[in-house]
Amino acid sequence: MCTPFIRNHQLNMIKKQVGELQKACSTVSDPKVIASVRSNTPFKVMEAFPGATEAEQKLLECFASLNTPLEFQGYLRSLEEYVKPFDSVEEKQLKKLFPKAKKLKVPDLAAIDLRYVTYLGWTDIATNKMYLAYHLNGRLVGVEGRFTPVQKKSVCFLCNRHEEVALFSAVTKSRPANASPDYYKAIGNYMCVNSESCNKNITDVTVLERFISDIVL
Ligand SMILES: [Zn+2]
Repeated sequence: MCTPFIRNHQLNMIKKQVGELQKACSTVSDPKVIASVRSNTPFKVMEAFPGATEAEQKLLECFASLNTPLEFQGYLRSLEEYVKPFDSVEEKQLKKLFPKAKKLKVPDLAAIDLRYVTYLGWTDIATNKMYLAYHLNGRLVGVEGRFTPVQKKSVCFLCNRHEEVALFSAVTKSRPANASPDYYKAIGNYMCVNSESCNKNITDVTVLERFISDIVL
């Protein structure tokens, strides 16, 4: 038995790879092609779990032998008990992350299913600000920035999907040693307007963690 260890972005990766294999099983007739998908998909899942134990690895790879949609669905359901939710946070913790934002509106935490959250993201239309909260190396950190809607779909830097995006621009706190006192560096990225759908699609946190580190560290 394993204790919960699958984070949201990893679950998304599993769903994606299981979906690939299920699709191959139902649409491809060449057994060689199916066999190659059977060996590739678990490999891609394991890349998202660099520190997996032997028991975890067994659990993560065993979908490779399945065939029918019912079996794939059953497999994904069987993983639910191993999903590790976003560590719960309270409203006052979120407010503390953004001390300069008076009257900060925070999301309705009771309405959010934390199992399917990699980061918390929300916008304040009144001030054109966007806020992110994330557990970086065990510490809850927040990033705030300017939020500029764009009138076209583009690729989100976090989930890599072509979505409704906004330009999220945050000012970094770090400065080079020889920087002038008015040194100012903003980092801007296109990012999903809807963080709920972004959280459903994100499969890797490398870019998110680098971005947050650049801003807060
Ligand atoms: Zn996104």
